[in-house]
Amino acid sequence: MQEIDRTLPAPAEWRVELIGVPAGADVHLRLRLESVMEGVLVTGELDVPVTGSCARCLEPIEDTLHLDVQELYAYEGSTTEATSEEDEVRRIDGDYLDLAPLVRDTVVLNLPLAPVCSEDCAGLCVDCGQRLDDLPADHHHEVVDARWAGLAEKFGTPTTSSPGAPGESPTTEEN
Ligand SMILES: [Zn+2]
Ligand SMILES: [Zn+2]
Repeated sequence: MQEIDRTLPAPAEWRVELIGVPAGADVHLRLRLESVMEGVLVTGELDVPVTGSCARCLEPIEDTLHLDVQELYAYEGSTTEATSEEDEVRRIDGDYLDLAPLVRDTVVLNLPLAPVCSEDCAGLCVDCGQRLDDLPADHHHEVVDARWAGLAEKFGTPTTSSPGAPGESPTTEEN
């Protein structure tokens, strides 16, 4: 059995649309390599820093993912290797066990497609585009339809019409 405890810089391409591992960030691997009947069993954990933006409110996100790893690397000629498809099982290549693809797949497959700044992030106001979490709970907009706005103008404003205004006074014709 062998233990690996290493910190390695992340490559640039560990990223999905809204979140990813900053290139060069410290990725901490604590892995245990055990010889089993069919090959080498790799178990352990990864600590991976991620940065991105919230899918609901676009706030920047900074977090560390703690991921579990468990994977069998099959020996050449083992039953596992013989009964699995080419891409179904990882293989030991001679004496060489390539951990990089396992770490990459574990990280990339665990990056959230819709990351959130907090589980109950309310997102953005559809009318003004501000973060609802930053606004008072009763935040809302008086939305007046343009056509109703026209009516409000016509009937809503009280007009002072006084009888006998200049020009309006009835004229009487006398003979
Ligand atoms: Zn958010
Ligand atoms: Zn608003």
